[in-house]
Amino acid sequence: RAKEQGKNQYQFFNGKMDQGIMQKTIIETAIYQAIEQREFTLFYQPQLDIATGQMIGMEALIRWHHPQMGLIPPHMFIPVAEETGQIIAIGEWVMEEACRQVKQWNEQTGRALRISVNISPKQFLQEKLVEQITAILKKTNLTADSVDLEITEGVAIFNEQHTIQKLKQLKALGVHISIDDFGTGYSSLSYLRKFPIHRLKIAKVFIDGIAQTEEDQAIVASVIGLAKNLKLRVIAEGVETFQQLQILRSLHCDEIQGYVLGKPLAKEEFEKVYLK
Ligand code: C2E
Ligand code: MG
Ligand code: MG
Ligand code: MG
Repeated sequence: RAKEQGKNQYQFFNGKMDQGIMQKTIIETAIYQAIEQREFTLFYQPQLDIATGQMIGMEALIRWHHPQMGLIPPHMFIPVAEETGQIIAIGEWVMEEACRQVKQWNEQTGRALRISVNISPKQFLQEKLVEQITAILKKTNLTADSVDLEITEGVAIFNEQHTIQKLKQLKALGVHISIDDFGTGYSSLSYLRKFPIHRLKIAKVFIDGIAQTEEDQAIVASVIGLAKNLKLRVIAEGVETFQQLQILRSLHCDEIQGYVLGKPLAKEEFEKVYLK
């Protein structure tokens, strides 16, 4: 019997058990604790209007401040939270925290900055999303047009009719909608005719090669042209160099976000660098 147990343990630690599943369970448990212990925090990254040179707003990006492991980036836990449904609770916290923060900043500075909040597919599809955002806006006394929801093309593949309906409700509420990581999803372009959205966010993978490869520059130029023809705003994400910025300017891209302006910063640092 002892020998059998020993053998099972041996198998357990030698990957006979699916390691992915084991890790997922551990992460899931830790996320529950993180929600209870309030271990999440938001970082903020500026978004710039190229023509005016003004900061128009910032994207809220979640970080997990784990007591032992330190700052954990979203790709380590958002996919698990999305799978387990924990993203609903996390997302509600993010939305309220982001709204409260931008309200405070706008009051302090007299500006009308807009905050971009990432909404994962499961969050987008939850029934109470519109209700939840409405309640948070009321609670934080923030106007709806101070909020931009970043959704990915992925939401469309579940149920296009449902997505259109949800987007119409959000538009009626007055929040802005951006398509994040544009060009990397699986959906067809036809949804652009039907979705009431405000902005395309060109994925970093295309910006990366913009100064080196003609193909990437052609794709970026085309997406900018597409956005203009559809009367949408267009922002480039992951802009790292001044050269990339110059090319985007010459292509008449409206807005940029990326390390060339600044990395995402914690609240206090963001205030010091951008709001003083
Ligand atoms: P995303 O929404 O596309 O966010 C952009 C990511 O690129 C961020 O990574 C940002 O820190 C990073 N980034 C920005 N500029 C540059 C640059 O110039 N160079 C490079 N190399 N990277 C840059 P981050 O913060 O690790 O977030 C990763 C992803 O996690 C986000 O991608 C988003 O999909 C997700 N995420 C972040 N916060 C939240 C959240 O509150 N809720 C949900 N549902 N997802 C979130
Ligand atoms: Mg985003
Ligand atoms: Mg993105
Ligand atoms: Mg993304």
